Amino acid sequence: MLALREVTKVHGDVHALRGVSIEVRAGELVAVVGPSGSGKSTMLNIIGTLDRPTSGTVTIAGNDVAVMSDDALSQLRADHVGFVFQHFHLQAGATAAENVADGVLYAGVPRRERHRLAVGALGRVGLSHRADHRPHQLSGGERQRVAIARAVVGDPTILLADEPTGALDTASGAAVVELLRELNAAGTTVVVITHDLDLAASLPRQIRMRDGRIEHEGDR
Ligand code: ADP
Ligand code: MG
Repeated sequence: MLALREVTKVHGDVHALRGVSIEVRAGELVAVVGPSGSGKSTMLNIIGTLDRPTSGTVTIAGNDVAVMSDDALSQLRADHVGFVFQHFHLQAGATAAENVADGVLYAGVPRRERHRLAVGALGRVGLSHRADHRPHQLSGGERQRVAIARAVVGDPTILLADEPTGALDTASGAAVVELLRELNAAGTTVVVITHDLDLAASLPRQIRMRDGRIEHEGDR
């Protein structure tokens, strides 16, 4: 499903990634752990084609990212990748349904159909009854579930989550993790960055990063 080969990323004189090679197969559920600054977000952004590597090769769903234009990469993202972030990144003035509908904004889907898909995705995350609520009317856990609905409304093959439970209390975080598991069980490949070592240990595969390198890989 995705592969990085000897990927490096340099920001000025900061070596964010120093030669990372990983392969994730379709249907996997992978945890990425490591100290702050170890390169986790950089790696996830490169996997999600939000960022390009300084060197090395990135293959996403069979596509060599290096030879693709920015437009082609946008299309690849629209077709294959959903993102979830620690702080949700929802539009404050928009309802839950409108936020979720944004997840297919670039897919050429008409407005009415986007709304229909959004309501369906909110149902998948158990928030049908919150469709007309704005973010400030929702709890943190509900906001993250809206963000997950937005990430999956276009039916991505890969879901990338950067510390999705980092801003949540334990119970809401557990609900978010359960949701990621369900989406994975339904066929989505999931890569999730987490600070929570217990959570990571509970997932089928762990990748541990340090100083821009993969320090250890393991299966549960
Ligand atoms: P993590 O997610 O593990 O905390 P990051 O991937 O965010 O780590 O960052 C890895 C290193 O790269 C850090 O030293 C960080 O400061 C640096 N870095 C990340 N993005 C940028 C950027 N856009 N410009 C400069 N340095 C960056
Ligand atoms: Mg990070």
